[in-house]
Amino acid sequence: MPQEIYNFGAGPAVLPKPVLAQVQEELPDWHGSGMSVMEMSHRGREYMGIIAQAEADLRTLLAIPENYRVLFLQGGASQQFAMVPMNLLAGGRAAYVETGIWSRKASSEARRFGEIDVIASNATAADHAVPRQESWQLRPEHRYCHIADNETIDGIEFDFIPELGEVPLVSDASSNILSKPLDVSRFGLIYAGAQKNIGPAGLTLVIVREDLLGKAGPQVPTMLNYAVHAENASMYNTPPTFAIYVAGLVFRWLLQQGGLPAMAEINARKATALYAAIDGSEGFYRNDVATANRSRMNVPFFLRDSRLDGEFLQEAGQRGLLQLKGHRLLSGMRASIYNAMPEAGVRALVDFLHDFAHRHG
Ligand code: PMP
Repeated sequence: MPQEIYNFGAGPAVLPKPVLAQVQEELPDWHGSGMSVMEMSHRGREYMGIIAQAEADLRTLLAIPENYRVLFLQGGASQQFAMVPMNLLAGGRAAYVETGIWSRKASSEARRFGEIDVIASNATAADHAVPRQESWQLRPEHRYCHIADNETIDGIEFDFIPELGEVPLVSDASSNILSKPLDVSRFGLIYAGAQKNIGPAGLTLVIVREDLLGKAGPQVPTMLNYAVHAENASMYNTPPTFAIYVAGLVFRWLLQQGGLPAMAEINARKATALYAAIDGSEGFYRNDVATANRSRMNVPFFLRDSRLDGEFLQEAGQRGLLQLKGHRLLSGMRASIYNAMPEAGVRALVDFLHDFAHRHG
């Protein structure tokens, strides 16, 4: 039997095996249409059915309220760093909470468009935590408040949904969307690049409350205006048709697993097992994030002796444990354990962590 391969990459990331098998089966001829999904007109009857089903299943998974629109866009989460202020700032001020590298990128991009107040930051704190909400300097004139719900590089995840009164909460959920149930009604706008927990790269998901549409000024390019995409049901221009189709299959797969409550349970078990192995290694491995804010999706860790990093990665690779090298800004290691990472993959990694530490400790 060939060795099982487990891909711990942060994104593009592992997809559910049954989804890949279905894509393979349907690739040349979708449901007897004689066409690949890649070849279909986005306005044809077949494709309209595919995108409608994808949206319906996403709405079921997240229990998205009626007054929220789902937009299937392109440009990555990075484009949202600009689209959010272009559409919501309207010459005013916005608040940003910085908890890691991605939220800092978001705030610096937003500065091109207006006054940005960083109302809380963990940049100079030693605790690698999400600043408690009591310390945030939110003001009523803030047009919105931006957070990154899960920092993919730093491995820092919110353990609460901020309560902001009338100020809309905007969340970059690129790396933890669909990993647990989420009360969408607490947010003004949620965005996520697809290539972690949703599907292939090239698709960016936006979930936006209707009353936040139509605030963009006339200088905002048509393609960067949320209202245009909402009015045209994500078909103002050609959407990323194939990526949306695969995302739809992932949504179906999630529903078959028992939806997001089931995923939350499995994800908690995986994260608990992995952090236990790190914490139980008597300092051989280390994760510096405050316990309450340890990401359930991206687990950065460091070997006490970084001279062993190369050997660690090489041996891991020989065992089929791939893409464990940490982000270039932090170095060390990082294991991303999204929905599609099976528990067996985490068990294999935990066994390897024990074994490697035992031999080199
Ligand atoms: N935000 C977060 C939290 C991310 O993890 C990433 C990608 N790793 C981005 C934004 C940027 O996403 P994209 O590459 O889709 O522009």
